[in-house]
Order: sequence, then structure tokens, then C-alpha cells
Amino acid sequence: MTIEFTIDRRINGTQVRTGVLRTPHGDVSTPVFMPVGTFGSVRSVTPDELISAGVNILLGNAYHLYLRPGAKRIRDLGGLHAFMGWDGPILTDSGGYQVFSLASLAKVQEDGVSFRSHIDGRLHFLTPQSVIEVQQDLGSDIMMPLDHCLPYGADEGALRDALDRTNRWAEISARAAEGKKSEVFGIVQGGMNEGLRKESARFMSSLDLPGYAIGGLSVGEPKETTWAMLEAVVGELPVDRPRYLMGVGSPEDLVEAVSRGVDMFDCALPTRVARNGGLYTKTGRLNVNNARFKEYVGPAEEGCDCYFCITFSMAYLHHLFNCNELLGYRLATLHNLRYFMKLMSEVRDAINKGSFSDFKQEFMHTYVPVSEEARSQGSRNGRKGRSGGE
Ligand SMILES: [Zn+2]
Repeated sequence: MTIEFTIDRRINGTQVRTGVLRTPHGDVSTPVFMPVGTFGSVRSVTPDELISAGVNILLGNAYHLYLRPGAKRIRDLGGLHAFMGWDGPILTDSGGYQVFSLASLAKVQEDGVSFRSHIDGRLHFLTPQSVIEVQQDLGSDIMMPLDHCLPYGADEGALRDALDRTNRWAEISARAAEGKKSEVFGIVQGGMNEGLRKESARFMSSLDLPGYAIGGLSVGEPKETTWAMLEAVVGELPVDRPRYLMGVGSPEDLVEAVSRGVDMFDCALPTRVARNGGLYTKTGRLNVNNARFKEYVGPAEEGCDCYFCITFSMAYLHHLFNCNELLGYRLATLHNLRYFMKLMSEVRDAINKGSFSDFKQEFMHTYVPVSEEARSQGSRNGRKGRSGGE
């Protein structure tokens, strides 16, 4: 296997753990947050800046790169790592979600899915095998299989049908990836149905893959449901493989999910929120557009070591946003990426010291989440997070 996972420390009697994910492009300490670089770039920041922020693994999107500029072109240009100047690990999402949410006229057949490009309306047909080939061309370290995604609220019959197909496609994907440099994870689906979720997790586990993603959560359901589904799934997955919760999430959701045994996350939230003027701090999210920052000479957060906080004032950032200056979006993005990386580093330290439950209690006491309504517009895992509309 080119992807290996070792557990460093596990908190007794819980699923909480730290570990190391080994990939052909380097090792990653978990739990880890992966910024979203949908089109082969984390919007507005360079690879050097990502490294400075503490980022060491990125998420790319096979659907978007397949449409533009084309996976074969990226392959001929040396692969995605060379193309985007990023030497670290890259995980690519299969595009299953985008085909069913973003493209039009998606038609499922047993051997694949046809759809029209959301860009120019051209007809495409993707199969589990071709989606693996696309990700091989990109040179991803970790690939995701094509899955049949349904919108939140789908009935049990539709969920059952999509799950059977997702399972068959996962088997085909695993065979297509055999002996290749990139490896494929399984994706657990099953909507908000606990029985289907458990069944899906057991089936994926039987394929003996190097890691398992959990898809289709945090798509608008109540939080209690998200956590109940997650707990049901984690209980069925092998302990010695990484668990990746797709499209999550907000700081408080990351901490909640780590406490239920999740090792990997991705979300467009830190970068998208930054471009709307939102800055994360220990006590919650600030909005730089607020009039109270007009003459505020301090940083977004005292003690933050990001380039923005050590160099500029909130008054300056307020001014940049007021004038729609591109630098404003970049500086806010650098701060938020640093915030997410520091949060995950604190999470890992707390687990390694055996004090994660104290850390979680303190975090939940100090951090005030934005309202549910504002959040569902901002995060929506699947919805905007996985659609690449960051
Ligand atoms: Zn900062």
C-alpha cells in the first residue's frame, strides 16, 4: 500500500486518536483539516503561503479538473502536483457529488452516469473506472470512488437503490485502482438511515481499503442526527484505517467530530468565509465589515502569528474590504487558514497529552458559533463545500 495509517495515541474507551497518514508526497499528522483547492488552487493563496499557514495536505476536485483544463492535459503537463506547484499530498474528490448537484440532466445507468457540463452543456459519461483514470492522470495521492449521491430527504427506497449502486461502483473502483500509485478510499453513504449507514460501513470495510470517507452528512439535517449517524458509522469501520468526514466543517463541528473518532476533514468554509469578511477567533467569528473595526488598530486576534495579524490592523482590512481590494480577501484567507491549522494542532496536542475532553469542554465554553441559519448558508458541507462553489 502506498497509503499507510498508524495510530499514535488513542484515548482509552473512546474513538479519539492521533495518528500519521503516510502518502507518496509526505506524512500528515491527524486529525487534519484539508483546505479546498477545487480548481488546482486554494483561492487567492500560493503554495508557499499554505505551507506558512501550516497546511500539509490539500483537496482537489476531479469533476472540475476533468472539465477544465482536462485530466489528460494535466497529466501531460506533469501531473497536478507539478501543475499547481504543490509538493505535498493531494486528495481528490471523485466528482460524484458535483455530477449529481452541479451538472444538469444527470442520468444514472448501471455502468456509470451521463450528465451535461455546467459550463458549456456538453454531454459527458463517467464510469467508476474512468473516474479512477481521471484521478490517476491527475496523480492524486488519495482518490475517491464515484458514488451515487442523493439530496437530503431522499426516501428509503431511493437511498437503498443508490447505496447498492455506490457499493458496486466502490468494488469496481477498488479493482481499477489495484497496483496503481494512487489509492482509493471507500465512501460510506446511506442518508439519515442508521441501518443503511451501518450496512454501508460494513460493506466498505469488507473491501479492505486504506481509508474510509463518510459522505452525505451535514447537508441540512439537525446536528443531533449528524452525530448519531457518525457514531453509527465509526462503530462499524476498522479502527486501524483513517476516517474522513467529507465537507465538514465549522470549528465547533471539527471538535465534535474528532471526539467521535474522525481523522480527516475538508471544507471550503475558512476560505469562503474569509472572502465575505469573516475572521475566525478563539471566541467566534468576527466580521471585518462591521463599523466597529473602522479605527481598530489591533489584529483579528491577539497572539495570532499569521501574516495579516503580525503586519496589519483590522482598520486596514476594513478599508480594503470597503474598497473591494483583492489584498483584503487574501489577508483574511491567510488568517482563517492559520486559525484552522492552529485549531487542529491544539486538538492533536490535547489528545497526545490525554487532555482532549478538557480541551473540548474549554473550547465549547469559549467559542460562540454563528447562528444555525447563518451557518447553514455558510457551510453546508455537501452543498457548497463539495460542489466547489467556494
Ligand atoms: Zn491572524
